[in-house]
Amino acid sequence: MKVYPDFLLHDILWYKIGGKARFLIEVKGKQDIKNAYEFLRKQKDLPAGRQVKKVFFLGLGSNLIFTDDYFDGAILRFLPNNNSIKLTKPHLIHADAGTILDDVIQFGFQNNLVGLEWAGGLPGNVGAAVRGNVGAFGGEIKDVIKDIEVFEAQNGKPRFKNLKRYELKFSYRNSLVKKNGLGVLAATFRLKQADPATIQRARQTYLNNIEYRKIRHPLEFPNCGSVFKNIATPEHVEKILNVYPDLEEKIKRDWYGKVSMGYLIKRLDLSGYRIGNAMISPKHCNFIVNLGGARARDVLSIIKVIEEKFLETFDFTPEVEAEVVE
Ligand SMILES: Cc1cc2nc3c(=O)[nH]c(=O)nc-3n(C[C@H](O)[C@H](O)[C@H](O)COP(=O)(O)OP(=O)(O)OC[C@H]3O[C@@H](n4cnc5c(N)ncnc54)[C@H](O)[C@@H]3O)c2cc1C
Repeated sequence: MKVYPDFLLHDILWYKIGGKARFLIEVKGKQDIKNAYEFLRKQKDLPAGRQVKKVFFLGLGSNLIFTDDYFDGAILRFLPNNNSIKLTKPHLIHADAGTILDDVIQFGFQNNLVGLEWAGGLPGNVGAAVRGNVGAFGGEIKDVIKDIEVFEAQNGKPRFKNLKRYELKFSYRNSLVKKNGLGVLAATFRLKQADPATIQRARQTYLNNIEYRKIRHPLEFPNCGSVFKNIATPEHVEKILNVYPDLEEKIKRDWYGKVSMGYLIKRLDLSGYRIGNAMISPKHCNFIVNLGGARARDVLSIIKVIEEKFLETFDFTPEVEAEVVE
């Protein structure tokens, strides 16, 4: 475990945006987590105003907008260690929360296992992937999880327990981990053993998915992924159709009943809209890119502009997907 006081976050976050945190604590496994809470318990002896009240778990920060303000709490940053990924049975991979998801995919291929190739190009670590039940190209993490180890602080001490897949209550980008604010320590993936031809096909799917993202997403700039959720609520889809009736066919045929936020933001003429060094990417309008040195307040102001434009045009505000951390 390593503790860094008054740590400037934007250096380590995917978005390269964010102010200072009172403590950044790097953890690489169970003992580190115990030590981290022990450290935080000692801070509790400080006078009332100086105690650490907030604890935030951090992966790569690829889905986060940290504000420019001082984060008066502790950030537990999950990192991999030398032994963070191993085969426990021919088809089971055990990975610590800090393991990069892409390393699990590669490790699977090396051991003739497939089932995670849909996640090619999806940034993040194992802990966050389980918490948010990440998904892409028709795959979801819930389909390959066997069980996980979690922890929860009780009276300032982390209590560990195992949860099986069916206990995790996975749903769209959601899980019990998220609902109950649990920490993920490790996960066991159940993948499929495959012959060389199947492995080759899975590798190709993985590479195609990375390529697809490179072409469509503005990966050349720091970003936080999709800023808004696509519009899925029937009532909201209806409101959009009231304004753009020509979209009816496209919604059915191309978007499986939803409406693409990237498309709508572009049609509302906000492509390339810029505040400070944050900009709505013309390559994909549901991304707000950091052109270099952007501040969280610039990003949040652009989000506000989009929300206001939606309210004015469609009479509702879209839901933000990226997590704002204050
Ligand atoms: C270019 C780009 C494309 C993306 N495409 C997709 C996509 O196709 N599908 C998709 O689902 N997502 C996508 N995302 C979002 C992102 O990849 C996921 O949300 C991912 O799980 C975030 O991982 P992370 O390690 O960066 O987590 P962070 O952003 O650091 O954290 C995300 C959340 O997980 C929590 N967390 C982190 N570690 C733990 C832990 N050990 N225990 C408990 N909670 C923890 C954090 O507190 C936070 O609430 C994309 C993001 C980007 C930037």
